[in-house]
Amino acid sequence: MMSNLYPKKITPTGEQAMILHKGKRRIRLVYLLTGLVFLSVLGTSLVQIFAAYRAEKLSLYETTLGMNHESAQKMAVTMNTLFLTMKNSLRVTAAQLEVEQPQILQKQLNLFTDSSGYFNSVVYVDKAGTLQAISPVSSGNTGLSLTSEAVKTALELRMPTISRPYMSTTNRLIVLMTNPIYNDRGEYIGFLGGTIYLREPNVLSSIFGTNVYSDSGNYVFVVDGTGNIIYHPDQSRLGDNVKGNAVVEKLMQGRHGEELVVNSKGVSFLAGYANSSENGWGIVVQTPLSEIESISLKLIGNMLLYSLPLFVVFWLITLWLAKTLAAPFSSLTDMARDLLNGKRYDRFPKESHWNYEAHHLNKTILLAIEAFQRQEAHLHSEAQTDSLTGLANRRTMDARMGQWVQDGVPFSVIAMDIDDFKKINDSYGHPVGDEVLKLLAKIIVSLARKEDCCCRTGGEEFIVLLPDVPIDAAFRIAEKIRQKLRIEDNPTGLPVTISLGVAAYPDGAASAKDAIRNADSALYAAKRSGKNRTVKYTAGSAFGENS
Ligand code: GH3
Ligand code: MG
Ligand code: MG
Repeated sequence: MMSNLYPKKITPTGEQAMILHKGKRRIRLVYLLTGLVFLSVLGTSLVQIFAAYRAEKLSLYETTLGMNHESAQKMAVTMNTLFLTMKNSLRVTAAQLEVEQPQILQKQLNLFTDSSGYFNSVVYVDKAGTLQAISPVSSGNTGLSLTSEAVKTALELRMPTISRPYMSTTNRLIVLMTNPIYNDRGEYIGFLGGTIYLREPNVLSSIFGTNVYSDSGNYVFVVDGTGNIIYHPDQSRLGDNVKGNAVVEKLMQGRHGEELVVNSKGVSFLAGYANSSENGWGIVVQTPLSEIESISLKLIGNMLLYSLPLFVVFWLITLWLAKTLAAPFSSLTDMARDLLNGKRYDRFPKESHWNYEAHHLNKTILLAIEAFQRQEAHLHSEAQTDSLTGLANRRTMDARMGQWVQDGVPFSVIAMDIDDFKKINDSYGHPVGDEVLKLLAKIIVSLARKEDCCCRTGGEEFIVLLPDVPIDAAFRIAEKIRQKLRIEDNPTGLPVTISLGVAAYPDGAASAKDAIRNADSALYAAKRSGKNRTVKYTAGSAFGENS
């Protein structure tokens, strides 16, 4: 029976194998796709976050500037009103003072200090510059001759004044507000002064607050008309002159507005500023620029935190999509590798992919591989079998014998040839001859075992190889074939006979070729001695025969 129809495995040639395994590690499509998506999402997100950060910063910048300007203006209005009131109260009180009666005067001053709360201390200074009365009493000694610029100016001008910050005789940094005092005869006798102690809780801290700095780091400071600091959360700055500061310069010109300013320590601030017409002082409200940056960064941080879970979900979906998208290509790649490594597919997975290209590529390649395998199998069997009878050809026969010789398997050979076949062809035509050939093939196969090798070796010549069958048993099988053909119906209507020769290996044959030659010579002997018989090869040409 014909066997070994399966093709040998395809093994890649050395060159192909080198191409397959050479050089760099190739990246899987799924990793490429996910990597690509990851990079583009990351890139886009970074650009977006950066843009959001910039926009946020700019908006905060503008808002803060505007708010600081507005605050400065409101505070300036408050301060203006306050100083107007302070000035008026000094004027009204000054007009009522009983300077000739010290006890009443002291009472009047005490009442004024306590009830208004505008000044840290109130003084009555005579036109010679001597401190005549003070409230609270504890804050200074009467009889002192005051020589400060502020006192001199007030005495000279004989008008309401407001001084620059200066060190008082009691060693306090103060601002002095004065109002002239005239007696009943209209003679100038001195002034009523109200002082503000800059380094102690005062009227300014009561309106601007005593908090040093707010949480956001922004703060307010007040300068007088010549750039001296009147109010500042940093006590050590009080009295400093900062007219070099760009904002203070503008305040001194009587302007208000908002701008980015760098202070003497090199720190940038967003400043709003406005001034008060009453005392000529200016108010600056400023926020450190770094605050804007940290708020913007915090915002971006929150944005990232909130979008992270979404990003992860998105990323997982992408991973799944990429995997699905790459699946057909991956399975094709694996299949191609398997094919090259000799694996064969009897059935191909019928997969359906939602991607148009993947679906059609997969389908086409599978069809091509299937067709290729079928064709290969067909060619392989063509190369091994005889197309008319389906029996093995001589090449297959040689291969099987070679294997048996190598494995030390003994075998017998039956060689046969149809008698007077030429006549059959001539009388009934070639097609009828073909039918006879097919009939004989069928009979041979029906009498052979699975492990036997039945071959058509020439036009009307056949050989059967029987492994592990001694020559006598082979002789009997040969006879069965001959007899069966003779009695079988055939298209000629007349009996068709054959002549057969039987030989064995290794008995009487040194090689497989010898065994075939011996069987042929026995067959020749059968022809010579009258055809339609079987001759068994015996060494020394003493052939046994049967007919
Ligand atoms: P012998 O008894 O001595 O064997 O005589 P024979 O006529 O059988 O032998 P011969 O070698 O003279 O003729 C063999 C013939 O077989 C010749 C050829 O036309 C015919 N033949 C060879 N192959 C085929 C084939 O495939 N089909 C058919 N119909 N005839 C074939
Ligand atoms: Mg013949
Ligand atoms: Mg012949």
